[in-house]
Amino acid sequence: MRNISDKHRIVIKLGTSTLAHKTGKLNIRRMTNLVRVISDLHNSGREIIIVSSGAVGLGAGKLGLAEKPKDTRSKQAVAAIGQCELMHIYDDMFAKYSITVAQILLTKTIISNPDHCRNFENTIEKLVSMDVIPIVNENDTIAIDELELEIGENDSLSAMVAELSNADLLLILSDIDGLYDDDPRTNPHAKQIHFVKEITPEIEQAAGGAGTKLGTGGMATKINAAKIAGEAGIDMIIMNGRDPELLYDLFEDKEIGTYFRANK
Ligand code: GLU
Repeated sequence: MRNISDKHRIVIKLGTSTLAHKTGKLNIRRMTNLVRVISDLHNSGREIIIVSSGAVGLGAGKLGLAEKPKDTRSKQAVAAIGQCELMHIYDDMFAKYSITVAQILLTKTIISNPDHCRNFENTIEKLVSMDVIPIVNENDTIAIDELELEIGENDSLSAMVAELSNADLLLILSDIDGLYDDDPRTNPHAKQIHFVKEITPEIEQAAGGAGTKLGTGGMATKINAAKIAGEAGIDMIIMNGRDPELLYDLFEDKEIGTYFRANK
């Protein structure tokens, strides 16, 4: 049984593939629809916290680069450009619905420091109480994932944010409908799994194997997020961000995406 309709504080993770076209330029229709539906969920009384990727993608798009840069310095410079663009777009789009947004940039070093964590928690509480939607990203200009000092992908980050913000639900919007029992891109008979009670070796296998990091946005990082959220007692959903209207169905407890039940 799903109980999504009861969830009050929701962390929504938006990936670059949801927000931007392959060119790195903004997917205007998708973003417009997403901001409209998220604003509506906010207006219905839910507390929303967004974890948004897109800094590197939008920065590359803004500079007209054919692809994301590979070296650390360029990636970080491009992220600095894109983060500014990203927040400008959110600020502008949410303003249409009279909703104020706020930017929070995190690194793993911040998350592993109890004082900094407390500051983060306090700020989130304050912003939410002021009816503001906080928008979190990793501080890509500071984080150096090559040295494995940092998180490097926003799936795990979103689970940590959900834990620190005492969320009731982590909602990961992706470019795939959910978790499948095999790779749907190579196996046309792959079936979607709608409900995951426990992350077993079979589930890890379905996600592409335990411990593998299929680049940012792979299913393995989402399973990792489900583990972090689950241990914190937070349910998680992975669903396709292609059609934001489906969020209404989700909150009417319709069977959308894959639901990971937390082991409370
Ligand atoms: N923080 C990165 C960005 O904003 C994205 C990381 C990810 O794709 O998970 O571009």
